[in-house]
Amino acid sequence: MIAQVYINWGRFVIDCPHSDCHDAREVTPGQQAEVCAAGHLLVVQWPPDAAQIHAALAERPQERTRNWFPQDHPVALQGGQPHGQSPDDLRDEARQREEAALDRAEQARALLAGLGLELDPVTGVVKGL
Ligand SMILES: [Zn+2]
Repeated sequence: MIAQVYINWGRFVIDCPHSDCHDAREVTPGQQAEVCAAGHLLVVQWPPDAAQIHAALAERPQERTRNWFPQDHPVALQGGQPHGQSPDDLRDEARQREEAALDRAEQARALLAGLGLELDPVTGVVKGL
């Protein structure tokens, strides 16, 4: 059976597609076949731009955000995760997350200022308590 590669925490992974099997294996670039823990022979299907996808994810500082699924991958569909993203899509997604985090930090600073408090960005200490 064919097992589609996806990326989880920056690792290339395949799930055994046999319905009675829940094994997942880490695979290495160029690997063409794998045998799961239950002995199922799997043909590893790589996206043609695996290296570019992995490089786009490697730019993210946190490993837990280095995730990618091929189009219509069952794990992505079940979990409501994005799938079929290009390297440019992944970079756009990272930029949007960074901007949202900056917006939240600005909102927190404004909230503290409204209470007469100030957060020291270096020490993390709230001044004015
Ligand atoms: Zn299996």
